[in-house]
Amino acid sequence: TGKFFVGGNWKCNGTKDSIKQLVSDLNSATLEPDVDLSFSSLTSADVVVGPPFVYIDQVKSSLSDRIEIAAQNSWIGKGGAFTGEISAEQLKDIGCKWVILGHSERRHVIGENDEFIGKKAAYALGQNLGVIACIGELLEEREAGKTFDVYAVSSWDNIVIAYEPVWAIGTGKVASPEQAQEVHVAVRDWLAKNVSPEVASKTRIIYGGSVNAGNSAELAKKEDIDGFLVGGASLKGSDFATIINSVT
Ligand code: 13P
Repeated sequence: TGKFFVGGNWKCNGTKDSIKQLVSDLNSATLEPDVDLSFSSLTSADVVVGPPFVYIDQVKSSLSDRIEIAAQNSWIGKGGAFTGEISAEQLKDIGCKWVILGHSERRHVIGENDEFIGKKAAYALGQNLGVIACIGELLEEREAGKTFDVYAVSSWDNIVIAYEPVWAIGTGKVASPEQAQEVHVAVRDWLAKNVSPEVASKTRIIYGGSVNAGNSAELAKKEDIDGFLVGGASLKGSDFATIINSVT
């Protein structure tokens, strides 16, 4: 479905120095988009990285613009007296195009619920940020329904759905291509029934959870796996480039 999409979620990792190195590695990597951009008949990937907020500016000013930047969170509305929060407007202001919302670490470690995540998503979309909307836990249509019912989205053009089973995140236990494919189909079916067949066919559904340079190619072969959201392996430029280039 559409262009392959690969996101690197750096989570709460990095220092000025390690990020300088990572950016330099990414800048010198050969990525499929370089090869393919002028040939529209060939597939290429949309590539996004999500640094911690405090390093976004550093990354934005040093990373090649073939890679876009995502924030790892955003506030539910306009800025103001909300200590510690970052608004969608501020993200746009510093050049972010995307925001990751609903990640399982924010749900389970920090305690965000569907309603709160839904508000954030609706607001970010209203500000024309792309949303990488994470779902996972229960592997079920019900879960997709619960999450997306509260998103109240008017347009699905700027949403990428990331399926990330909790048991696969940071554990080294990757879902098998068949397991991931099965859930992606269930999510697509849910979209077809509850939103529209058109949205179902064009929305990219990406997989996250222990994706690495050694397993991405097999996963990428599955019809309904439209890309990846990568944690640990996105902190190594060469591994991340291999994953990006596993586009089929
Ligand atoms: P890992 O790739 O480290 O398992 O993390 C996945 C993830 O949570 C990406 O958002």
